[in-house]
Amino acid sequence: MGVSRRDFLKLSGAGMAASTLGLSLSPIEAKAEELAISHAKETTTICPYCSVGCGMIVHTLGGNIINVEGDPDHPINEGSLCPKGSSVYQLRDNKARITKPMYRAAGASAWQEVSWDWALDEIAKKTKATRDASFQATSTIKVKEKVAGLEVDTEIEAVVNRTMGIASVGSAALDNEECYLYQKFLRGLGLVYIEHQARI
Ligand code: SF4
Repeated sequence: MGVSRRDFLKLSGAGMAASTLGLSLSPIEAKAEELAISHAKETTTICPYCSVGCGMIVHTLGGNIINVEGDPDHPINEGSLCPKGSSVYQLRDNKARITKPMYRAAGASAWQEVSWDWALDEIAKKTKATRDASFQATSTIKVKEKVAGLEVDTEIEAVVNRTMGIASVGSAALDNEECYLYQKFLRGLGLVYIEHQARI
């Protein structure tokens, strides 16, 4: 509803009159503040967007998010949130959000919806094929060696067990335990290029 200049002056005047007459508006203000979240469920969580890891309070009502704010008890952000964190509810309430795996075949112009089973099988197949094709068991490296009391550069064939054909860009949406398991998995495959979107 639009408020005209006249309405605004009337409202301001009413506020001034209440103040002049010694009437307190605080119970009405308190009631107005209370309404939004008074019956909502309060859940604390961590912002998934970046490595700062701000604490959040999420209010839900009937399964819907009705408010997100910084957690004042959280030692990292003490109640504040950046604009990105403040709009975190859009992760869920967003018509543009894609919730199913999409696939665009090489050379195709359109994306198609695929099942999770199919997508995971394809990722596994391509990961295995790329790793097999790019895996290096050893690599020639330079080391210092003592020869007749003198330090000289020499080359040796060192075990590296790595693949430079695959890289990983992780996500700030992962928690500590997930990151630990993910890192173990990637190192087990022999990945060297392991990055994180919050650090780029
Ligand atoms: S994106 Fe913003 S709110 Fe979220 S953790 Fe980073 S700084 Fe905090």
